[in-house]
Amino acid sequence: CFCQVTGTLDDCACDVETIDSFNNKEIFPKLQKLLSSDYFRFYKVNLNNPCPFWTDHSQCGLKYCAVKPCTEVSFSKCIRLRNFICDFIGSLCVSIQGEVPEGLKSSSYKYSEAASQDIEECEKAEKLGAVDGSLSDETRQALQEWKKHDDESDRFCMLDDEDSPKSQYVDLLLNPERFTGYKGPEAWRIWNSIYEENCFKPYSVKRPLNPLASNSGDDGQGFYRWLEGLCVEKRAFFRLVSGLHASINTHLSARYLLDENWFEMKWGHNVSEFQQRFDEELTEGEGPKRLRNLYFLYLIELRALAKILPYFERPAFHLYTGQRTQDNENKKLLLELLHVAKSFPLHFDETALFAGNKKEAMKLKEDFKMTFKNISRIMDCVECFKCRLWGKLQTQGLGTALKILFSERQIEAMPNMSNTNPSFQLSRQEIVSLFNAFGRISTSVRELENFRSLLSNLKQ
Ligand code: FAD
Repeated sequence: CFCQVTGTLDDCACDVETIDSFNNKEIFPKLQKLLSSDYFRFYKVNLNNPCPFWTDHSQCGLKYCAVKPCTEVSFSKCIRLRNFICDFIGSLCVSIQGEVPEGLKSSSYKYSEAASQDIEECEKAEKLGAVDGSLSDETRQALQEWKKHDDESDRFCMLDDEDSPKSQYVDLLLNPERFTGYKGPEAWRIWNSIYEENCFKPYSVKRPLNPLASNSGDDGQGFYRWLEGLCVEKRAFFRLVSGLHASINTHLSARYLLDENWFEMKWGHNVSEFQQRFDEELTEGEGPKRLRNLYFLYLIELRALAKILPYFERPAFHLYTGQRTQDNENKKLLLELLHVAKSFPLHFDETALFAGNKKEAMKLKEDFKMTFKNISRIMDCVECFKCRLWGKLQTQGLGTALKILFSERQIEAMPNMSNTNPSFQLSRQEIVSLFNAFGRISTSVRELENFRSLLSNLKQ
């Protein structure tokens, strides 16, 4: 089968077969369970940011592109009573679909860190001004600006302002990534601007099979010579983006709209759609290379999960939703998953990246960061809202993985047992996007196995 990619992956010491078996048996089932919990299924996002790069984009009228945000009705007493009952019966109690738990509705860091102290205490501290009550308003504002700047400088992607009234919670389980019908010049423009303008590629080098290029008869040899000649960091960058693209296209082929009538829609695997995108002959050799990039992306995100274990292991860290028993069970499951991720025998060695001359390496890292930030901003130009939702989530998740990989010193310096705020921080938005993005890649790897067996059944 053409999708039976085999052997060692370029730029790492890992073979594809090891990833297949590790993911499908050890990671995938645990991750799916974790991602269906309240903490991970509700993602706060602003889908109404204007596109910062062009204004002439059309409105997407495709019905499968619609996103249904959660309703913001708050019956707090009622919910408190339900939380109490949920705590009592434990994991049997799941949220009513689309209803955001009260505990999640407050913002970012503090509820991950402070649940052991208690919410009220945390709010009190914040009202008193956690820094120093005697500071003037201007100094406090300046300090906050600096803090924002510090956080920003660590990041590889743009995060939405969760406090903006335009940001809304979306239940990811109710809005799954699947075929939407978004295609043609609008979709190509997004991919094209990512590859042509944001992958360090000079205009003179032509991408193979680029549908928007005038010379789309190019056999791609020039492109691959250019790619091989790149430094390992820039090559890795291209492979991450291409892996993300391959993963999205695997999902839309695996959850394709197969049939529709008045009563129901039938979603499932579309083998010929998958073949069109990845078959070696039909794609002039490109398909298998793209699937290998998907595995490369998997390794990068897996490595980030292994490295972030100490952050989540701290007793002060809680996956807070306000349902204590469930929250504790989720933390246990999360740690189990991270220990499994850590046990992977052939991890990607990120120390090979940005390792050369210190000054050059710093400059390269900054370029890498800026370019990746640009890609996360391009997601606001995706006309199809469902594609925009998952595109934003997955670029944020990958950006968070990169932030982790290159924050080794801060993670190591983290205080182990105390409740003091560590210098390395992840917001809830970053945590949710990190795990859900990895969930998408893990599902893609699992789907490749399904396609392999569907294709072999077709042959018999
Ligand atoms: P495209 O996938 O549009 O690719 C354009 C060109 O890029 C190809 O002709 C080829 O030259 C090159 N290319 C393709 N794959 C790779 C790769 N892996 N690496 C390097 N180069 C490559 N559609 C859905 O149905 N559901 C979704 O959830 C969805 N999400 C999307 C999210 C984003 C951010 C974007 C930009 C698009 C999304 N789409 C989604 C659309 C989908 O990705 C395709 O663009 C669409 O199906 C049209 O496919 P295509 O065969 O014309 O080629």
